[in-house]
Amino acid sequence: HAKEEGKNTFRFYLEELNSTISTRIALEQGLRYAKERQELELHYQPKVCVASGKVSGVEALLRWHSPDFGLVSPIRFIPLAEQTRLIIPIGEWVLRTACLQQVQWREQGLLLNMAVNLSAIQLKSPGLVERVAAIIDETGIQPEHLELELTESALVNNPDEVVQLLERLRTLGCSISIDDFGTGYSSLSYLKSFPVTILKIDRSFVRDLAHNSGDRAIARSVVDLANNLDMKTVAEGVESEEQLTILQQIGCTYIQGFIYSRPVQADQVSAVVRRLGGAA
Ligand code: C2E
Ligand code: MG
Ligand code: MG
Ligand code: MG
Repeated sequence: HAKEEGKNTFRFYLEELNSTISTRIALEQGLRYAKERQELELHYQPKVCVASGKVSGVEALLRWHSPDFGLVSPIRFIPLAEQTRLIIPIGEWVLRTACLQQVQWREQGLLLNMAVNLSAIQLKSPGLVERVAAIIDETGIQPEHLELELTESALVNNPDEVVQLLERLRTLGCSISIDDFGTGYSSLSYLKSFPVTILKIDRSFVRDLAHNSGDRAIARSVVDLANNLDMKTVAEGVESEEQLTILQQIGCTYIQGFIYSRPVQADQVSAVVRRLGGAA
């Protein structure tokens, strides 16, 4: 019996593995044409300035409406896009679309900073700075309203090269923030040489802020560190009044999270901004 069971377990394991692999292949195939088939869409989530109470800008967040899989979360398809390097053309589309949107809002009298996520693969791809420059040029965005979000883990390898790259990006006039800060083991000695203006406190430290003194200490330390390095801070994933109050006390600069708004479609942004008390 034991032998039979072992066989069955093995068979089930294989079936599951096969379906995982075929799902992966199907996802990958779908992702390959997602841009051409216009299945990609950006949603935008506001960041609220603690001092003024107004919306300082939005973060562009990618959505994929797959005909086969429905709405696929970026947590699922971004890693796949990175492994296949599809993130390079997709990321370019994201940047161009977000910049065009910022300009369109500006022309309608809604001035918002636009934050765009850049993957480590994009950062390492040759010609990145030139492509960002071309998109700034082509879309007419004022680069001081463009912010590039790079995860801390994208910055850990070859920090000397990264510093140079970030400096060239900064020369274009845009700003750079470190996303998911506190989760990527970047060296503090490099942090001071990164030409970065904003640290985004990772959601994992915000989640239990009200009940976990360790998380509170970490959040406070990140804000202090940022202040001492002349950087600003964004707390991500803020959902409750309790978390908000603590972050205000700690001196965090901007708040982003469901407490103010979920990421919304472009045509909903002006209404959300109005509800939140206007743009900064
Ligand atoms: P991220 O850049 O750290 O973005 C923040 C994520 O937290 C978003 O998830 C957002 O919807 C979610 N979030 C914001 N506020 C709250 C909250 O109060 N509670 C909770 N539970 N979640 C909140 P999303 O849109 O699913 O994106 C996940 C990740 O996918 C992003 O994390 C980013 O790493 C990646 N991503 C999204 N769009 C792009 C893109 O255009 N390019 C690249 N390279 N990565 C992207
Ligand atoms: Mg981000
Ligand atoms: Mg983040
Ligand atoms: Mg995050």
